[in-house]
Amino acid sequence: MGFSTLNPQPSTLNPVSHFSLELPTIQNWNCHSCSECCKQHGIFVSEDDKARIEQQEWTAEDGVPEGQPIFVKEGGLLGKSWYRLAHQPDGSCVFLDQTGLCRVHAKYGEPAKPLACRIYPYAFHPAGSKVAVSVRFSCPSVVQNLGQPVTDNRKEIRGYANQVVPANVRDAEPPELTPGTRLDWSDLMPAVEVLDSLLAADDVPVLIKLLRVLYWVGLIDQSKFDKLSGDRLAEFWNIIAQASTEAFGPETPLSEIAQPSRIGRSQFRLLAGQYARKDTYADDRSLRGRWRLLQMALTLTRGRGTVPAVQDCFREVPFDKLEQPFGNLPAEAEEMFTRYFRVKVQGMHFFGRPYYGVPFVEGVHSLVLVYPVVLWIARWLAASDDRTSLSKDDIVKAITIADHNHGYSPAFGTWGFRRRVRNLAQLGDIAKLCAWYGR
Ligand code: SF4
Repeated sequence: MGFSTLNPQPSTLNPVSHFSLELPTIQNWNCHSCSECCKQHGIFVSEDDKARIEQQEWTAEDGVPEGQPIFVKEGGLLGKSWYRLAHQPDGSCVFLDQTGLCRVHAKYGEPAKPLACRIYPYAFHPAGSKVAVSVRFSCPSVVQNLGQPVTDNRKEIRGYANQVVPANVRDAEPPELTPGTRLDWSDLMPAVEVLDSLLAADDVPVLIKLLRVLYWVGLIDQSKFDKLSGDRLAEFWNIIAQASTEAFGPETPLSEIAQPSRIGRSQFRLLAGQYARKDTYADDRSLRGRWRLLQMALTLTRGRGTVPAVQDCFREVPFDKLEQPFGNLPAEAEEMFTRYFRVKVQGMHFFGRPYYGVPFVEGVHSLVLVYPVVLWIARWLAASDDRTSLSKDDIVKAITIADHNHGYSPAFGTWGFRRRVRNLAQLGDIAKLCAWYGR
C-alpha cells in the first residue's frame, strides 16, 4: 500500500486525518521547473482530474494539436479501467510545451493540474501508527537537495496526504521481516530506526555503512523471532548493529574485499541494465521492440563487446571500460548517497507494499544494490563522454535514472528480477559489487 504520484486513489479520499505524518528531516525540495517528471512518468488521472481537464476544453490554439488525444484508457479487458494523460511522440506529456512548461499550470494555475502532478515527488507509506513520507529521487532537485526543507512544506504535504491516504491506513498489515516471519509494527519499526542509525554514522564512508548494513541484515536473516519481542527484540537489533560496526570499522581495508564472482557480475549487469532503461509511452512495444530488448538482455548477460545503449544519454562503450577503477568519487557523492538511503529508509520506501511486497531483508538487499547500480550507470555516462573519472553530474544523473525505476518499474517486481537479487545475496556478491564499483 503505497500512495504516490502513480497511484493516487481518489475513491479512498480521507477528509478527516486519522494519522500523523513522518517527514524526512534531512531532505530539501522545491520544484525548479526542469520538467523532467513531465517527460518520463505515466500520469494517471482520477475521475475528478479527467472531468476538470475536459471542462478546460483544450484546442489547437492552446498548442494541443488537432486530433491529439488528451487521455488514454488503460486496462478494462477483464478488470477495472482507468485513464492516463496521453504522451507526445517524444514521450513527454501532452500538456508539456516547447519551453518545458505545463500548459495546464500556465493557463489555469497549479491547482488545476492532475493530483499526481501536484503530489510528485512525494510518496506516502504506512508505518504503524504513522504515515511515512518518502521522496522520489527521479527528480534532479531532490538528488541535489535544492530548495527549502521538506518539513517546511508540511501543510501542503498534509493536504496531499489527506487526498490519497485511506482513512484505514493504520489497519495496514505490517510487511514480512523474512519470508514467513511477520512482526507487529511495534517490533518492526525499531528495526527500521536501527537501520537508519547505521546509515547515519558520520565517522565512516557510505561504502562502510552499506557493508555494515549487509552484515546486520545477514544476521537478521539467520535468526529466529518466535521467542523475541518488545524490549528484548529492540535490544537484539542494537546488539547486532554493534556487531556490524565492530566487523567494519573505519580502518577496514576495502582492497581486501574479494572481486564479485563471474556469475554475480553477469546477474548484476542484467539488473543494472534494467535500472539504466527509461521506459516511456513512446517506446516501441511491437514484437520488433521486444526482440530488441531480448537482444540487449543477452548482450548484458554475456558482457562481451559493447554495452547496448538503452537510452539516448548513453553511447555504446566496451564493457571493460566500466570495470576499470574510476578513482575517488566526487566529494558530493557521500552526502547524496547517504541522504538517498536514509530518505528511502525513513520513508519506508524499500519493502512491503511500497516495494513490490518484498520482506524487509530482501528490500534491504535491493536498496543496497542501488549503490553499485548507480556507480555502474555513472561510469557508463562518464565513459560515453570519454572520461575515466566520475563527476558530480554523473552521480546526480545516475541516481535520477536508477530511482525512476526503483520501486516503480513493474519489471522489478517480477519473479525473475527478485530471483536475481536473491541470487546476488546468496552468492555474497552484493558487498563485493559495492566495493568493486566504489573503487
Ligand atoms: S499535466 Fe503538466 S505537470 Fe502534469 S505531467 Fe503534464 S505537463 Fe507535467
